[in-house]
Amino acid sequence: MPTAGFFNHLLHNAGYRAEDISIVAISHCHPDHIGNLMTSGAATFPNAEVLLGKHEYECWDRGENISDMRKPTKALFDKVVVPLHDRLRLLQPGDNLVPELTAVEAFGHSAGHFCFHLESEGQRLMLLNDTVPHYVTSFAHPQWHFSMDDNPDAAAVTRQRILDLVVAEDIPVTGFHIPFPSLGFVEKKENGFEFRAATYQFNI
Ligand SMILES: [Zn+2]
Repeated sequence: MPTAGFFNHLLHNAGYRAEDISIVAISHCHPDHIGNLMTSGAATFPNAEVLLGKHEYECWDRGENISDMRKPTKALFDKVVVPLHDRLRLLQPGDNLVPELTAVEAFGHSAGHFCFHLESEGQRLMLLNDTVPHYVTSFAHPQWHFSMDDNPDAAAVTRQRILDLVVAEDIPVTGFHIPFPSLGFVEKKENGFEFRAATYQFNI
């Protein structure tokens, strides 16, 4: 992807070194979420603990019922996640990654996919991660299947549940595939939802 792969460079520009990173939180093991864990056979973040769902780790590790489309993902998992096993912390839904950040069960997009709920100084944010792949159609039609969901039926049920939750509790959201600045609120519509971008209200 021409717009991907700049994380390490941008981290440096932000004034951090890879050695400064103490925690890497992985929502799930698809390639665009694990690809930067190792560089040239060594951990990209040499001092970091890697946090990952236990169910997610075990499913990819067992490698049962992997679709043909996901076989390269399994190969990448074996190459960049398994070698880090001594620095993995495997989480259950409801576990805290750090005191402010909680793993939320959002299974379906991958077997053990997590959202992350952030709460700090009275403010909350739901990191949807890949629960809602498209910022228009997936909000408007949460029941629609998405070809990159490993279990499309379960993913659709999860999408509805998480979106119902953030609407009910008025929690702002962000997600990996929502366009910049990727922050906003969710509104309930007759048969689905709508994403309301918050643009610069957060002073980012
Ligand atoms: Zn994914």
